[in-house]
Amino acid sequence: MRTRSHFLLMAVSATIVALPAHAQQAAKPADTEVWAPVPRVVTPGATDREAPSDAIRLFDGKNLDEWVMTKDKSPARWKVGDGVITVDKSVGNIETKRRFTNYQLHLEWRVPSNITGTDQARGNSGVFLASTGDGDDGYELQILDSYVNKTYVNGQAGAIYKQSIPLANASRKPGEWQSYDIVWTAPTFAADGSVKTPAFVTAFHNGVLVQSHYALTGETRYIGTPEYKKYDTAPIKLQSHGDKSEPISFRNIWVRPL
Ligand code: MG
Repeated sequence: MRTRSHFLLMAVSATIVALPAHAQQAAKPADTEVWAPVPRVVTPGATDREAPSDAIRLFDGKNLDEWVMTKDKSPARWKVGDGVITVDKSVGNIETKRRFTNYQLHLEWRVPSNITGTDQARGNSGVFLASTGDGDDGYELQILDSYVNKTYVNGQAGAIYKQSIPLANASRKPGEWQSYDIVWTAPTFAADGSVKTPAFVTAFHNGVLVQSHYALTGETRYIGTPEYKKYDTAPIKLQSHGDKSEPISFRNIWVRPL
C-alpha cells in the first residue's frame, strides 16, 4: 500500500511540475489587468487644507448647522466668529447631526496664544471619533497644548487617550493652527455585542503620522481599562473639557464617509 501511494504521489508531482511550462506560455499580461469598477474622480484641494470635491463640510466658517449639543441634541451653542468655532465650556460637548461608520476626517484646531495651566489642564479638548453616549463616551483622539507641557504621554496631543502614545509630537506653538487628518475604521460587533473586528485609527498631526492603523482595545476610559460597547453608526464629537484654561478654537472641518 505504502509503495503504491508513494508511486502515485510521484506521478502526480511529475504532472504538476510539467504543467507550469505550458501554463506560462499561455499566460498574458491582460490576464491580471483589472478595468472595472473605475475609481471616482475626486479633485484634490489646492492645498491640503482645502476640502476635496466630495467632502461633507462640517464647519465652513459660517455656522454650526451641522452640530448639536451632545447632552440634549439641541442646536450647538459654541461661539462662531471670524470664521472659527470657539469652545464654550459652560455648555458642554457638541457633536455632528450626521452619523458615521468609516470615514476620513480633517479638522484644524488652535490653542490660544495666551493659554495658561499645566499638564491636562492646558488647552484640553478632543475629538471623539465615534460618540457613543451623552458625556465623554466614545473613542477620543486627544487635543491638548503639547508644545511645551509635560503630561502622561498617552494623554498628550495625538494620543488615543489612555490607549496609544503618539508616534511623534508634532505640536505647534499656542496661537498657531494645527491639523488632524484621521482615518477611522469603526469596530464591528456580533449580534450578542461581542467584538468581531476592533476599531482602527490612522492619524496625522500637522501632516506627521502619529497613529498608524492602531487597533483600539475599546472606548476611552478616564478611569479603568478601555471597553467596547456595541454601536452601529455614531456622530463625531468635540470635547468641552472642564479645565480652567482658555478655550481652544476649531476651523475647517470636513469628512469623507468611506
Ligand atoms: Mg481631552
